[in-house]
Amino acid sequence: MSLDHVPAPNVYDAEPIPPAARAEIDRLLLSGDLFRYTAPSDAPVALLEREFAALMGTKYALAVSSCSAALFLSLEALGLPEGAKVMIPAFTFAAVPSSIVHAGMQPVLCEVGENYRIDMDDFRAKLPDVDAVIISHMRGHTSDMDAIMKACDAAGIPVIEDAAHSLGTTWHGRKIGTIGRVGCFSFQSYKLVNAGEGGILVTDDADLVARAVIMSGAYEHNWKKHGEDADLAEAFARWQNKLPLYNLRMQNLSAAVIRPQLPEVARRVRDGRANHDYVAELLNASSWLHVPDALSPEDRAPDSIQFNLVGFESDAKARAFADAAAARGVKVQVFGLSTDNARAFWNWQFIPGDVPDLPQTRAMLMRACDVRLPARLQKPDLDFIANVLVSAAEEVKGAKAA
Ligand SMILES: *Cc1c(COP(=O)(O)O)cnc(C)c1O
Repeated sequence: MSLDHVPAPNVYDAEPIPPAARAEIDRLLLSGDLFRYTAPSDAPVALLEREFAALMGTKYALAVSSCSAALFLSLEALGLPEGAKVMIPAFTFAAVPSSIVHAGMQPVLCEVGENYRIDMDDFRAKLPDVDAVIISHMRGHTSDMDAIMKACDAAGIPVIEDAAHSLGTTWHGRKIGTIGRVGCFSFQSYKLVNAGEGGILVTDDADLVARAVIMSGAYEHNWKKHGEDADLAEAFARWQNKLPLYNLRMQNLSAAVIRPQLPEVARRVRDGRANHDYVAELLNASSWLHVPDALSPEDRAPDSIQFNLVGFESDAKARAFADAAAARGVKVQVFGLSTDNARAFWNWQFIPGDVPDLPQTRAMLMRACDVRLPARLQKPDLDFIANVLVSAAEEVKGAKAA
């Protein structure tokens, strides 16, 4: 393929925010009505919660300041004791164990396989010693939710889904984020819906959401602006004045930016998946690069691609690959090889205790590569990226007939 005319695609810029957001932001600026609890009803944040719950098919949604805040509030809302042990996959973003530490609890790291998904043997072995689990669907890769829910239900252990990167992903047709007791999503700029910052949690559990609403900062009787549902009213009455107020609310401007993007989700999911699968096929044609298959019940919504370097015996060779790709205009992150990477578990030194020994996850991180692939990219961009990755691998390992 001739790529001389195509500049290296910019994979960091976001899509423009739909123009409908501007009129609403103007209205909010003119009135100064930025706090979610000022309007008597139908504040933009309340409307977002209703629309997001409808989109996900859950009874309740609570919009907050970030996905990390949603994870923290979920842990608190489950009523877990101080010091509770919470299992997470060892392949995730540092914010996830941080939310556990923030809640005064102890992260327990579980091994992850070469396909970036939870190692079920290690998961089952560690489950008896933990009080809750956060299934972090890292980079949108879905672990075996059938096996996870079966094991956790049998043990009576609550499951929080970190679906920050999984908006639009399904498992047996069920929406990721609605399988566990509570699901948490992010609206940070590198996620499918971009508000700069923001998060939301969804659940069908009235008691859990009532606790989370109050702790998010619904002081006095502001919880009355969270809907009429009788179960909810009872739960709010039960928890009035009994919980701390952490003030992790979302403000109206964020909701004004998010709401007009919700109708875009289906298109972004469709394009992101098509882009990913197109590049994956090109990379898999090289003997040096491997994109692991998803588990069969999963339909993905990727905005990035992860692949493993095959036959790169040394770290130096893996680094040479990343350098060769960068020289051609494509930035590749090898998770375990970039300094201070926030997705490498040995850098989470804020977790109390020693860095755990997780040889399988460590080996994966040393050869697993990450390239952003936003849904707005077009075929020439995708060809450019795939061509750079394949030729960078050949530069280091030599051209090889398949
Ligand atoms: C981005 C991300 C988070 C954190 O989301 P914030 O909204 O920035 O707090 C957590 N988990 C995963 C898997 C993420 O990708």
